[in-house]
Amino acid sequence: MQSTTRRTVLELVHRGQARTRHDLSRLIGLSRSAVAQTVAELVAEGLLAEHAADRPVRRGRPSTQLKLVPHRGWVGAIDLGHRHVGVAVGDMHHDVVDERRVSWRVDGSATDALALARSMLTEALARHGRSRRDLWAVGVTVPFPVVERTVRPIGSVPGWDGVRPAELLRLPATTTVIVDNSSDLGAWGEYVHAAAPPVRSLIYVSAGDGVGGGLVIDGRIFAGTHGVSGEIGHVPVPGCRLRCRCGRTGCLDALVSVAGDGTPSSVRAAGRAVGAALAQVATFVDPDVVVLGGVLGSTDAAFVRSAEDAYARHEPSRRVTFTAARLGLRSAQWGAFDRATHEAWAGASLGTARRRR
Ligand SMILES: [Zn+2]
Repeated sequence: MQSTTRRTVLELVHRGQARTRHDLSRLIGLSRSAVAQTVAELVAEGLLAEHAADRPVRRGRPSTQLKLVPHRGWVGAIDLGHRHVGVAVGDMHHDVVDERRVSWRVDGSATDALALARSMLTEALARHGRSRRDLWAVGVTVPFPVVERTVRPIGSVPGWDGVRPAELLRLPATTTVIVDNSSDLGAWGEYVHAAAPPVRSLIYVSAGDGVGGGLVIDGRIFAGTHGVSGEIGHVPVPGCRLRCRCGRTGCLDALVSVAGDGTPSSVRAAGRAVGAALAQVATFVDPDVVVLGGVLGSTDAAFVRSAEDAYARHEPSRRVTFTAARLGLRSAQWGAFDRATHEAWAGASLGTARRRR
């Protein structure tokens, strides 16, 4: 069976748009026999259940209603920032049931950060009587560009260059692992959670310990050829002489990092610089929404106001909605969880999962 058909069936049932096989035929445009086969397979795998309807769904014939079986498989998310490790687990119903976050110097060593994430994941599953074998899919965010599941930092970050996080996690072969940049997944998290249609294009910027950006264009993450689209962290800021983690001086990332634990004036300066940089990106992308996340973007009103004012000065058409991240510090984690859930729906069942590493 096509994995896209499986995913579409499960999505439609999950969203409540399809309650019967007839709904599925109508919405997907497949024959009744093709839908019957897909539903039969999903029921046999324990992903979907059919119940007798309380009352006839369609006039004239008895009908059964479709429901997801949430606890058949489990999904995990690992959110690695420059200074934190977050882990969430949830069920196939798209609900997070457990999440923890600890401070950790992630940049120093991929091996250590991923070992910590692995043990946090194990503990989270154990709290619900589960083990890593129950995981059908895991989404991993890393605070560096990712190309073909390999980390490619900007500048010198020896602890991460060339790392393939899915391999270091050593999860069962039946677990699908997806790895992506945290700003891209942050953009996706905000898009699916808060800004889904009619929003088509969204720019997300995480500002706190450094700054990173991600783009969703026409409902898809746009990562770019080298995985660095939206990475505004290393654009030069006029007059800034701070040393940046990339080895140069005067980058936006350095200015925002200082503001992350700094004074009100440094917060406003960082906000102005981020707003000006965003206005340049917006000229090309023409987004519906600009979302500011990270510690500064989601919690500091002065930062958001400064950024919005600078943005409006540089991009005076003002057709964009400016907003703080509705998921707060959890945008990237939620984006990873959502992507992993969809991977699980697409075909990760025990024994048949594709090994993506
Ligand atoms: Zn830099």
